[in-house]
Amino acid sequence: MLSEAALTIIHQLNKAGFDAYAVGGCVRDHLRGIVPDDIDITTNALPAQTLDIFKEYRVIPTGLQHGTVTVLIGDTPFEVTTYRTDGTYTDGRHPDSVTFTASLEEDLARRDFTVNAIAFHPEKGIADPFCGQEDLNRGILRCVGDPATRFSEDALRIARLVRFMSVLRFQAEPKTAQAAHALCDRLSLVAAERKRVELMKLLMGDGFLEAATAFPDVMCRLVPSLSPLVGLDQHNPHHSFDAYTHTIRAVQAAAKDPVVRLAVLLHDLGKPQTFHTDEQGIGHFYGHPAVSEVLARETLTALRFDNATTDTVLTLVRKHDTPLTDNRKQIKRLLSKLGKDTLLRLLLVKEADASGCHENSAPPDFTSVRALVDDICNSAECFTLHELAVNGHDLLSVGIPAGPLLGRVLHCLLEAVIDDRCPNDRDALLSLAKECADDV
Ligand code: ATP
Ligand code: MG
Repeated sequence: MLSEAALTIIHQLNKAGFDAYAVGGCVRDHLRGIVPDDIDITTNALPAQTLDIFKEYRVIPTGLQHGTVTVLIGDTPFEVTTYRTDGTYTDGRHPDSVTFTASLEEDLARRDFTVNAIAFHPEKGIADPFCGQEDLNRGILRCVGDPATRFSEDALRIARLVRFMSVLRFQAEPKTAQAAHALCDRLSLVAAERKRVELMKLLMGDGFLEAATAFPDVMCRLVPSLSPLVGLDQHNPHHSFDAYTHTIRAVQAAAKDPVVRLAVLLHDLGKPQTFHTDEQGIGHFYGHPAVSEVLARETLTALRFDNATTDTVLTLVRKHDTPLTDNRKQIKRLLSKLGKDTLLRLLLVKEADASGCHENSAPPDFTSVRALVDDICNSAECFTLHELAVNGHDLLSVGIPAGPLLGRVLHCLLEAVIDDRCPNDRDALLSLAKECADDV
């Protein structure tokens, strides 16, 4: 299972008289028949000894106080961590101290789930004191030790449980599930960045729907604005599910693009606030995309998403309910406002949204819209300021003053070209520019 590079690390440590095993996610994934992304090594060598053994290599003292040294073989990094036990946890997220130990079993005992507590050595084979292989074969996530204690020590493990349910399509063992429900309020102790990482992995899993169905409480601790969607009956013939169930079914149906899946998760946050029923008792949510956008911004800020992701997700949320047809001018206008990548993602969001409405909903057919997007992008047609036959300097030269007006005039000209009210021609645009400057 191990690459040449990983074998080199284990054998170098062994040659120097230490034990060394591959451990954690890489062993789990290998036993499931999946090639692991990265290989972590656990050893009884102390960090200073590891640094010494690999002095001929590039090493990074990543987290010496936690016992972790990163060794680079070629360009591949390996985390080599000294066997350790974690001390008491008073803050629900970090051990107060870590103690190095000589025992592999003690190191495995500090790990979160039995399937993550298996070690592997190329000659000695598997070490599995907590029967992780049995749980792996049965598709079960079970805490190592008492679940309530383990989740109280570090509440991030509760999010990891739901994340592994989604990614591995495993079930939570009943006591583990019960403790996760009982203690999920403690997720408020966990740093936003760590919650964000788990949320994104969870969203991308094949088993997202099962995981989010079993743990709406955990989902709502990660994204609090989801709470009022749970059980919200939409009273609408277009929807067979409550707003939360619709949302998670739509995420499951969505393309595996993290930005698309995140936008789908947040697209209907505004429904509870905008819900009203008409005389026939039919539910409506007029204006919900704008409210969703406000709540989505709060969520993305709280979870410290980067600006580029935030901007794209908010655009997708704001536009998710805009009807799209294969009308050339509409598509050109959208291309101009959103850009090609975001427009193509908007199609994916709308497909997912429609797929989440009923048991067997068919998504809309956007074949002709996609063809139109390609056609417009491949043609010489102008739909960006960049392609406009005039620029800011040209406008200055005909007496339009520098400043915000200039930008507004340029946009006004672009709209005129997109709407076929003016050819993309320098002279025509410059004479229109003077009219625009008086209007805008
Ligand atoms: P991934 O596929 O996301 O890398 P992983 O299981 O390798 O999954 P990592 O976060 O890389 O997860 O952690 C490596 C190993 O460290 C885990 O398999 C587990 O044994 C242990 N571990 C990680 N986080 C925790 C935690 N919060 N509590 C206890 N053990 C943990
Ligand atoms: Mg890992």
